[in-house]
Amino acid sequence: MRIAERAPYVVVGAGIHGLSTAYHLAGELRARGAGSGADIVVLDKATPGAGASGIACGVVRNNYFQPAMSELMQACVEVWESDPAAYHYNAVGYIALGAAVQESDLAATFERQERIGYRSELITGEAEVDAHMRSLFPDWRAQGVTICLHEHQGGFAFNVESVLGLRDKCLGEGVSVLEGVEVTGFASRDDGSVSAVETSGGPIEVGEQVVIAPGPWAAQLWAMLEMPDRIDIRTPSGDVVRDRPMWTYWNLQEGEITVDPLMFATADGGAPPVIHLDTDAPLYTDDGELVTGELWGIYFKRDRHGVQGGASPLVVEGDVELDPYPSTTDVDPSFPDMWCAALSHSMSRFEGSRAQYKQARSGGVGAFTADNFPVFDYVRPNVYGIFDSNHGYKMIGVGREVAAVLLGDHSRLLYPFRYERFATGDLHPVSSSPYPWS
Ligand SMILES: Cc1cc2nc3c(=O)[nH]c(=O)nc-3n(C[C@H](O)[C@H](O)[C@H](O)COP(=O)(O)OP(=O)(O)OC[C@H]3O[C@@H](n4cnc5c(N)ncnc54)[C@H](O)[C@@H]3O)c2cc1C
Repeated sequence: MRIAERAPYVVVGAGIHGLSTAYHLAGELRARGAGSGADIVVLDKATPGAGASGIACGVVRNNYFQPAMSELMQACVEVWESDPAAYHYNAVGYIALGAAVQESDLAATFERQERIGYRSELITGEAEVDAHMRSLFPDWRAQGVTICLHEHQGGFAFNVESVLGLRDKCLGEGVSVLEGVEVTGFASRDDGSVSAVETSGGPIEVGEQVVIAPGPWAAQLWAMLEMPDRIDIRTPSGDVVRDRPMWTYWNLQEGEITVDPLMFATADGGAPPVIHLDTDAPLYTDDGELVTGELWGIYFKRDRHGVQGGASPLVVEGDVELDPYPSTTDVDPSFPDMWCAALSHSMSRFEGSRAQYKQARSGGVGAFTADNFPVFDYVRPNVYGIFDSNHGYKMIGVGREVAAVLLGDHSRLLYPFRYERFATGDLHPVSSSPYPWS
């Protein structure tokens, strides 16, 4: 198939980031009298939503210990809230429950949310947390939880539907969204800028800029742009950790139970917030078998077909296979027992739910950067990279920021995620969370 010969702006990847960037860029070009959506081509080797955005649990939260993540997330929630219908966004809120080891992190997160005006409340003390949760769910019974951050903004969105909502917004702006076009390389000028994007449908000459938003395929695009696969990292104390891999992979463990979705409702019959529970209370199956005596965690939400969620991801050892995506082997065989035991631990309504477990199209591999935080930056003079380190379905607002940067503005929100931080030591603080994304 022969496609466009030339485009001012080429966006690689039709996931949440590529499409959000294209949509917001189209709007900015129009508003500034500098062009329109017709100047933008989005390329995807498969279809919109074929990558991580179409498999994401879809949780939208602000529970981040790192100030820069928290502020960026606030801007992203603004975008979700701007058009809930098109984005299939459910503003049900989000609750993070933690054990003693997480108290100071969650308290710091709450204080920052207060400062930036993100609506949330903090409940401390085992009895107080229990009472708060029982007021929402009378059968709440989780043990060992001493702190609760209840975010009254955020919630979740339906993954594929929100991507298609963004695609439709792009099409409405006159953007071309081309499916089945694989990017295979880049032609460069002497100054390193990209003159053409090479694709399975032939080369596309680049008039202005390229944006790459490849999700789990980050390392492949990174390599095509001749970026280093191993880097040195300066820590905030000034030490240099040498020769670290730029990319690592984690398998996200997710699944669902097929139940009447309305069985998971709040005491007043309302839609339940997304719940994230971490505790060090021993976890048993309904049959009394010990699953773990260590700190464990799960998250879950009401979905169309029941209750969907996940647990801690697992590091992928050795080579990673991304095509087809997601693979059927991405979820560990031990996950269903653990997750269903944890659901039952949290509320008696989930007792016996193991029998309803279904390995739906859930779970998948994420690509993480060397410090597990996103890199949002120029990787060539005219190539902007959106490498979200698997944080990013919720980050729908990143595309709005990137669009402004492409047109010459500075983004205060994206600046902390520049690639240079690995060399300068301006790294993000690390929390006590067991997850690589908090
Ligand atoms: C199981 C799972 C659950 C998750 N849950 C959540 C969650 O609840 N909340 C949250 O915020 N985040 C979540 N994430 C993370 C989130 O899904 C990703 O960070 C985000 O979707 C990445 O978006 P993207 O647009 O960068 O990439 P993707 O959505 O992966 O899109 C990249 C696109 O690029 C295309 N592509 C790749 N290579 C090429 C090429 N060479 N040429 C052309 N096209 C190419 C692919 O086909 C794909 O469509 C989850 C991730 C996984 C795996």
